[in-house]
Amino acid sequence: MLGKNPLGCEAREGAAAGRAVESKMLRGRRMFLDRGWTPPTPYAGIWDRAGVLKVSAENGRMTDAAFYGKLADLHSHTRLCGHAEGEPRDLARRAKDLGLGVLGISEHCPMPSGFDRLRLAEERLPDYLAMVEDARRAFPTLPIRLGIEAEYCRGEAESVRRFLEKADWDHVIGSVHYLGKWNFDDPKEIPAWKALSDLRATWQAYFDLWKEAARTRLYDTLGHPDLVKKFGFVPEGSCEAMFEDALRAVAEAGCCIEINTAGLRKPVKEIYPSAAFLKIARRMEIPITFGSDAHAPSEVGANFREAVALARACGYTESARFEKRKRTMWPLPEKE
Ligand SMILES: [Zn+2]
Ligand SMILES: [Zn+2]
Repeated sequence: MLGKNPLGCEAREGAAAGRAVESKMLRGRRMFLDRGWTPPTPYAGIWDRAGVLKVSAENGRMTDAAFYGKLADLHSHTRLCGHAEGEPRDLARRAKDLGLGVLGISEHCPMPSGFDRLRLAEERLPDYLAMVEDARRAFPTLPIRLGIEAEYCRGEAESVRRFLEKADWDHVIGSVHYLGKWNFDDPKEIPAWKALSDLRATWQAYFDLWKEAARTRLYDTLGHPDLVKKFGFVPEGSCEAMFEDALRAVAEAGCCIEINTAGLRKPVKEIYPSAAFLKIARRMEIPITFGSDAHAPSEVGANFREAVALARACGYTESARFEKRKRTMWPLPEKE
């Protein structure tokens, strides 16, 4: 049976509801009876006072709109980087369908010659800006943030700084994809990973760069914090001292770190960063952002339930988002 609450939300069939959900439903029923509304029978769902359906009776989980509405996916790519599909308008359509609170587009920034071409070409920056504007016009009720995923490479901070002056960004994600000239996260480099004699030294080199990235204060959040684990080459023994040292620099810089779900789609099959890393970040009160790192519209908001569960398990209760580089904090959804 279908029904509508006073604000027009649809109620769903309640047959599959478990006992715990039923007791919550009774509380919900009372709430609406207080407001002079008689729910349909069987009553099926819990709404908050703003009229947002929070828990569907089917499985006791928050519905997609109630869950995603509290979240910002700040990290996504477009066809302009040459290795992703879709335009901002396509990403926005997916975000809108999910009910995502905020969508951030964050194309790979241009870099000087000698780097890969898997990024926005500088002469196409006007196209990028126009495409984001086009998406904003097409989906006026969805807040769409203009972001950029900016590289950190030793010796290139000035060129990144100059590029960042060319647009009025909402947020800048700082990422390390290179150790020197080695693009260590390219799948073509797996044989090179296999040949490494000292994994721990490679990880340390990565986190040394990551610390430097934080210290530049060029970035609002640092992307996929332990990207170095992407192919599953992880040093034996604890890395906590290494993480602590890296995160201290982030805390001092007042920067956020990103919970990035792309790791689940890579050989390591784990969110970036690990729980061990995130617990230290929480202890240091480093704020988090969320990013799917979508390279196709279907990946927008991907695995955000797992991301929120990880954040909560590590003690987080809120996440950050940005507008014109000004940070605001927002509570996490109450349930995954
Ligand atoms: Zn990246
Ligand atoms: Zn990315």
